[in-house]
Amino acid sequence: MKLSVIGCGTMGNGIAHVFAQNGHDVNLIDLSQENLDRAMATIEKNLGRLVKKERITEEVAKATLGRLKATTDLNNASDSELVIEAVFESFEVKKDIFTKLDEICGPDTILASNTSSISLTKIAGVTQRADRVIGMHFMNPVPMMKLVEIIRGQATSEATLATITQIASDLGKTPVTVQDYPGFIANRVLMPMINEAAYCMMEGVADKDAIDTVMKLGMAHPMGPLQLADFIGLDICLDIMEVLYEGFGDSKYRPCPLLRRMVDAGYLGRKSGMGFYDYSK
Ligand code: NAD
Repeated sequence: MKLSVIGCGTMGNGIAHVFAQNGHDVNLIDLSQENLDRAMATIEKNLGRLVKKERITEEVAKATLGRLKATTDLNNASDSELVIEAVFESFEVKKDIFTKLDEICGPDTILASNTSSISLTKIAGVTQRADRVIGMHFMNPVPMMKLVEIIRGQATSEATLATITQIASDLGKTPVTVQDYPGFIANRVLMPMINEAAYCMMEGVADKDAIDTVMKLGMAHPMGPLQLADFIGLDICLDIMEVLYEGFGDSKYRPCPLLRRMVDAGYLGRKSGMGFYDYSK
């Protein structure tokens, strides 16, 4: 299948990698040539790791790279059967891309978004093909994580849902279909837990290590909620809480003031060197 992935950041390069390794020709499209170079180097490095671990052969790694074409020209998506968008989590940016893709691509092309929280119905509404717009929410890191949350917008057709479910299964992933409500399932369940852990910290119920230890050893979570929040990025966690709070209008989703204060201070987690934990040393 011919496919294009728009945005080559954390998620885009993982999505492109997985499709190419499964035999698909992939255009990896981004505004920034520098990001594209970095993404291709990341994919090459990750393939090298798989070869080292004897999960794939040198030949498979080479063939995978050969199926990837990095480009800054969105028009290269014109003959794709599927386009997966993985650009910044901003409706305005996604609106611009979906409007352009709707003009560039043939009428049968399915347009998917990897959004973590933006309404698929709203994204579909900027196109003339709402029945062929769907959410494909991969998890980070894409080559490792089995889940794909498939989000059905208000007008997404049965045929589109069936095609995308089959594609996700063929990649060796486990697709789970969800309806288009704020946060879908993954973030609607995960983020309030993280937010509550931040409240526990703010109220002095326990210190960060104790909170994380309870959830790791008591619930068998691989990471504690505060450690996970640092990994995801505290700004992203706050943004998603805002989406839940606004989307449901329910006070149970109010973002924890400590989380907000940390984001205001520039404590964004691992990526900024400081979050609930200190990564600067
Ligand atoms: P990122 O910031 O790492 O990468 C975004 C990329 O999009 C950048 O390379 C940027 O240059 C590119 N871009 C921005 N505007 C563009 C445009 N108009 N045309 C082409 N390229 C453009 O972001 P990410 O973390 O990979 O997230 C991408 C999407 O995936 C978001 O919607 C996010 O919510 C979702 N998501 C992220 C995660 C995660 O853990 N990071 C998990 C699941 C879903």
